[in-house]
Amino acid sequence: MSTLFDKILIANRGEIALRIQRACRELGIRTVVVHSTADIDAKVVKLADESVCIGPAPSRESYLNIPAIIAAAEVTDAEAIHPGYGFLSENADFADRVEKSGFTFIGPRPDTIRMMGDKVAAKKAMIAAGVPCVPGSEGALTDDPVEITRTARAIGYPVIIKAAGGGGGRGMRVVHTEAALISSVNTTRAEAAAAFNNPDVYMEKFLENPRHIEIQILADEHGNVIHLGERDCSMQRRHQKVLEEAPAPGLTPKQREKIGQRCAEACKRIGYRGAGTIEFLFENGEFYFIEMNTRVQVEHPVTELITGIDIVQEQIRIAAGLPLTLRQKDVVLKGHAIECRVNAEDPFRFTPSPGKVTAWHMPGGPGIRIDSHVYSGYTIPPHYDSMIGKIIAYGDTREQAIARMSSALSEVVIEGVKTNVPLHREILRDTHFEDGGTSIHYLEHVLLRDRNKS
Ligand code: ADP
Repeated sequence: MSTLFDKILIANRGEIALRIQRACRELGIRTVVVHSTADIDAKVVKLADESVCIGPAPSRESYLNIPAIIAAAEVTDAEAIHPGYGFLSENADFADRVEKSGFTFIGPRPDTIRMMGDKVAAKKAMIAAGVPCVPGSEGALTDDPVEITRTARAIGYPVIIKAAGGGGGRGMRVVHTEAALISSVNTTRAEAAAAFNNPDVYMEKFLENPRHIEIQILADEHGNVIHLGERDCSMQRRHQKVLEEAPAPGLTPKQREKIGQRCAEACKRIGYRGAGTIEFLFENGEFYFIEMNTRVQVEHPVTELITGIDIVQEQIRIAAGLPLTLRQKDVVLKGHAIECRVNAEDPFRFTPSPGKVTAWHMPGGPGIRIDSHVYSGYTIPPHYDSMIGKIIAYGDTREQAIARMSSALSEVVIEGVKTNVPLHREILRDTHFEDGGTSIHYLEHVLLRDRNKS
């Protein structure tokens, strides 16, 4: 029996549910898996010590169904709940309900989640903690068009209107001219109210050529905070990450140390607990905070490979109240890692491609890690995110990681559904990617545009 927890309920699905289950098994912790009717044949359900069907396929009736998840924890005597990413992972009310029902929520305190979930409040907190932010409106925008126009002029066009409650790359609109400003604010506001139940929007300078660089944090309940370096997630399409790597090409140890230290201090100040990521845009050598994710992220494996630290196991240890065993000086970055997110989608039109996977052959060999819940004969349900797995390559150098990833991608065989693997092969062959340091607009505005021309 584990000294941490006897049993953890995994309130998620897909690859991250499996990832959490693997962490638990290694720690000798039993797992309860909750699932929808659409996921009865999921690998994580088959491997679970116990499983509970919590509702029909639509997420709001299953993976977002708080009473059903709490009830499942009660009937199975689970001690703690791991929310994974997406779904309820950044829902402060859920974290609250979990704790009030007598379970441990594997994540930050509900109040921290609430604060960071409101990007306006998060920005205020970060400014107060000395973290540099993107220039923008002071708090949420008012309804006054004159004031909004004045704010935009002061910041300078182009600006980006963002929903305070936004996430997943949604709820953002770039505005290039004053003529389009007020209608864009109103549209974003209406969308935000409908999608996030929060009509608040704010304004930022739209950075023209930044990279997306984020810092991984671990913080325990005893005030110890460390950072695990950065990840570069600049390869994006529609504000969604496609490929990530660690460390960020060209970032100097001095730059890393400075921003990492800032982030760790900020987390200490706000009493952060658990794993978290502070996201920045990086332009002309300067970091600008955009948001904090209070959960494990899809791209956590690249950091695990270069640090040798199991982030999910650390989350569990922290939730059990243990102090961090690592100090900042124990965190040594070694080598380079790249992750390709494999989506079941048309590689050219990007429309989802759910259905039965008739053949599934994943690569292997030195430095290759596969995090996926898919198997031959598995049917990808149409109800959820199209990500079906991640291929992660590690090398002593970035060149070796790229070579290993290229070789791995050439081995992949997935039949029955379309995937974005051809896109990843193109990225890996691209000379600008090879050079490293491309901006967040590169994939969409250069690589995909040139491809449409040819
Ligand atoms: P989400 O919570 O939806 O992921 P973020 O605030 O993290 O939203 O932004 C997601 C992405 O949107 C960023 O990685 C970047 O590509 C783009 N973005 C956000 N803010 C700006 C900005 N001020 N200038 C340019 N691009 C931005």
